[in-house]
Amino acid sequence: MPDSDVRLSDTVPAARRGGPTPARPDIDFTPVRNGMDYLRSAFQHLAVPEGTEPDGRALKYAVLHLQAATEVLLKARLTHEHWSLVFTEPGTASWQKFTAGDFESCSLATTLDRLEKIARISLTRRERTAISSLAKTRNVLTHYGHSASAYQVEAQAARVLGLLLTFVSEQLRPPQATEAAYVELVMEEVRGRLGTINALVADRMKQISGQLAGHADYTVTCPGCRQLALVVGEWPEWSICLFCLQKFAASQEAALRWGWEVLGDPEYVDWYVDDCDCTEGAGSLLWPVNTVASPVEDVALCFSCRAVYVEVKDR
Ligand SMILES: [Zn+2]
Ligand SMILES: [Zn+2]
Repeated sequence: MPDSDVRLSDTVPAARRGGPTPARPDIDFTPVRNGMDYLRSAFQHLAVPEGTEPDGRALKYAVLHLQAATEVLLKARLTHEHWSLVFTEPGTASWQKFTAGDFESCSLATTLDRLEKIARISLTRRERTAISSLAKTRNVLTHYGHSASAYQVEAQAARVLGLLLTFVSEQLRPPQATEAAYVELVMEEVRGRLGTINALVADRMKQISGQLAGHADYTVTCPGCRQLALVVGEWPEWSICLFCLQKFAASQEAALRWGWEVLGDPEYVDWYVDDCDCTEGAGSLLWPVNTVASPVEDVALCFSCRAVYVEVKDR
């Protein structure tokens, strides 16, 4: 199964499909328009009357279309560099395949790598994380039908939208007046709604701040919504994110899962689990962790008894 809902034709400008080869094939902004349409649709699914929440179906399409927007817009920028760069194997690229949309399009991770190495557009680690966690949510929703909470989708959407707005305005200004007007129109619309979503996220953080206050030492970033709101549970209690209400069972498993999802692949990112002295502490002590109480200094946190160690044991 392809890892994407984005049709290949979305990244190929309409004029290229079967049409005559333009004199400057690298200047054509139809993919930008496609991407903006997805962006607009994502917002429309999230926009519900005040006091209500988007239902499961609306959330699903908000995530799918936001993900599609991200992919199409990032790849559009790559095609401005050179159209062959959206092929999985640029060495096998041909103009004919490109115009027919008959090729395997590169993955999102490869797109980001090529943007950085070839187009010299670097996204911060935070931005890459925002994109990859949205992609994960999208995959889970598509293949397993898991129900994301409205809070989780809104927090993720706010992050990705914020970065797409910057990306579009800095990287994708189309030269044709009609395209530019359309992009500007959608940007206006999205900016306004982003403000609303950001306000929702801020409101909810404020709402739960009282509840979080007593748990600052063991409240960490939630892998689901990326808010600093996951209260680690004391075994056999579950860990729960007070922002998006996602829950995690089992201490050792929770530590590993948290490490993978928040810190990344241990092959590239330096983190490890150790044993804590508590009853269920085998493999539950994770380093390094930032908590509400210690947002900058790294500590080791036991995902079983919530003990915090400032000094790390020698390995
Ligand atoms: Zn959460
Ligand atoms: Zn412990």
